[in-house]
Amino acid sequence: MPGRHHLFVPGPSNVPDRVLRAMHRAQEDHRSSAFPALTEGLLRDIRPVFGSTVARPFLFSATGTGMWEVAITNTLSPGDHVLAVRLGQFSHLFIDTAEKLGLKVEVMDLEWGESFDPQAIGDRLAEDRAHAIKALLVVHNETATGVTTDIAGLREAMDAAKHPALLFVDGVSSIGSLEFRQDAWGVDVAITGSQKGFMMPAGLGMVSLSPTAMERIETAGFKRHYFDLRPQVLHNDQGYFPYTPPLAHLFGLREALDMMQEEGLANIHARHARLGEGVRRAVAAWELRICARDPERRSNTVTAIVVPDGKDARHVIDHAYRRWDMALGSGLGRLNGKVFRIGHLGDLNEGMLLGALGLTELALHDAGIAVPLGAGVAAAQRWYRESE
Ligand SMILES: *Cc1c(COP(=O)(O)O)cnc(C)c1O
Repeated sequence: MPGRHHLFVPGPSNVPDRVLRAMHRAQEDHRSSAFPALTEGLLRDIRPVFGSTVARPFLFSATGTGMWEVAITNTLSPGDHVLAVRLGQFSHLFIDTAEKLGLKVEVMDLEWGESFDPQAIGDRLAEDRAHAIKALLVVHNETATGVTTDIAGLREAMDAAKHPALLFVDGVSSIGSLEFRQDAWGVDVAITGSQKGFMMPAGLGMVSLSPTAMERIETAGFKRHYFDLRPQVLHNDQGYFPYTPPLAHLFGLREALDMMQEEGLANIHARHARLGEGVRRAVAAWELRICARDPERRSNTVTAIVVPDGKDARHVIDHAYRRWDMALGSGLGRLNGKVFRIGHLGDLNEGMLLGALGLTELALHDAGIAVPLGAGVAAAQRWYRESE
């Protein structure tokens, strides 16, 4: 089809031309004496994106899923008891990883679309006087449902319970788009990947470990090899990587971090809040339901929209793709067919989103969901105008 494809899945997100051009470069020697300047700049400039000055970041050729494994195997031991909240497909997969690696996972299950009360975790931790629970596994932004968790509140509840469990936070669809304060929230391991807020192709996994988490890497009982942080520490300290790093991704990350610095993190967060609210207003104008029940916890990076009973969200997605050249996110796991998702993160502005909302209205019609044409677009336009 002529014209640009409209990519509105919540990852991979749109890669800016600047980042594409930066990645389109000849390979070079990653052991040269010039190389540490690149490594050191990346490791320095990525820290503010995590909201940290004291945590230690690492980069791997991998995706977010691999970073779950990095977090677990470098700080815990087989058989350790951990507590996790399941409220959508990504928290489910995080739990699945923990179980497959051999942790004993205590799961707090919620309806998909619900958000959890940090106090419930605090109460459970307060009961655990022997401190059997070694870590808490949570997803900051559940991409499957569009629910954002209150991590600051969670840290308060953990502190009130005086519990020493490590706090692992998956920020794959939040870090770089939503405010993330690793130090202030006491996040021990923050996890992300390149293909969402960082506006890059998938392939670069990123983790950031608090000083407490860093102390555990010597004593963690898991066997590890590729994902072992110890050789990373040794080589990163010299400005190198133990294995061949994905050079194109490192060049891309340099450019993406430059772009993020130019815009400013606070402006990036405010832009996502504004763009996200426009989508929510459009959904309200369509009189459709947003999967995330609590309006306070609705995500500024992704909105999951519930289709009316008897309709199939897969038809909306397929019409959008085949007829209107737009990719919408599918319903994951048990939400398959029930919701479609609009990703609104990364390199995005009002014009792109108004286009996507207009095409979504057409695809809804194609699938037999006759929302008034233009109603969602107009609601978003009004919001973008008044919030300017
Ligand atoms: C995208 C995503 C992941 C990671 O998926 P990969 O495909 O391994 O990069 C993990 N958690 C959340 C919340 C995500 O949105």
